[in-house]
Amino acid sequence: MAGPEWKKRALPVLAGAALGSALAAEVLALLLLRRRGEPFPLPTLAALLALLGNALESARRFVTASPSTRGVMLAGAGQGWDYCYSCQTHVPPRCGHCFSCNVCILRRDHHCTLLGQCLGYQNYRYFLSLLLHGAVLLLCCAVLNADVVWTLLQEKPLAQTVLLLVLPWLMLLTGQVNFTAFFFAVVTDACLAGCLFCAGFLFFHSLLVLRGQTTKEWFEGDRKYNMGWRANLREVLGKRWHLALFTPFVASPLPGDGITFRTRPPKSEPLLKTRDL
Ligand SMILES: [Zn+2]
Ligand SMILES: [Zn+2]
Repeated sequence: MAGPEWKKRALPVLAGAALGSALAAEVLALLLLRRRGEPFPLPTLAALLALLGNALESARRFVTASPSTRGVMLAGAGQGWDYCYSCQTHVPPRCGHCFSCNVCILRRDHHCTLLGQCLGYQNYRYFLSLLLHGAVLLLCCAVLNADVVWTLLQEKPLAQTVLLLVLPWLMLLTGQVNFTAFFFAVVTDACLAGCLFCAGFLFFHSLLVLRGQTTKEWFEGDRKYNMGWRANLREVLGKRWHLALFTPFVASPLPGDGITFRTRPPKSEPLLKTRDL
């Protein structure tokens, strides 16, 4: 990747990575520090580390499995092919130019600003896997932090705990809570917001995958690549589609090449009735 090109995309990626690392460090510290003298919750820690490992590996593979046309042999222009004036080459159907990546992307969906990479044919599976593991991980972190908030405010009424989670700044500024309770409430809120963000995206993209569409095709109402939900899942998640979402470590080769796609045969015209002739 060229230097200046990467510099343009580095800031949101670094900000996202810093936020993710801070959350992970906070939750691990919370688990390790709180349990002094108590039996250590090994299953909880193991589950969180497994989720974190899956999420990080999905993010790594999403970024490294480039869906661009760089180094891809695009021989000849067939039906449905287009011409990209930026790349100065013919490109296959469903391919789109990304002005952030400055290259054409096979089966392009959108450019992910937080990870600095386009979502396309080769890395769709890792995007879904990252959203799934990220959403579950953030939900677990939110529950763990909410547990601390609850413990800190045990003598106070439930309404105060709820208010702290909804308006933490107000509670701190009015002196209703100390900084420790405020801090855990803010982290709980950040985890919940992140969880809803991941779950929302996961829901939307799962629907797109089941319908065999990209976001652009969904906007345009184009369903010609819909080959049935099972074939659509195989196209995105690979031949072992039933395992692919559970972990990014399992191999699941994609059945196609990202250049040619099967399409549904067009609906046949109804035969003219004799009386219309
Ligand atoms: Zn292009
Ligand atoms: Zn891009």
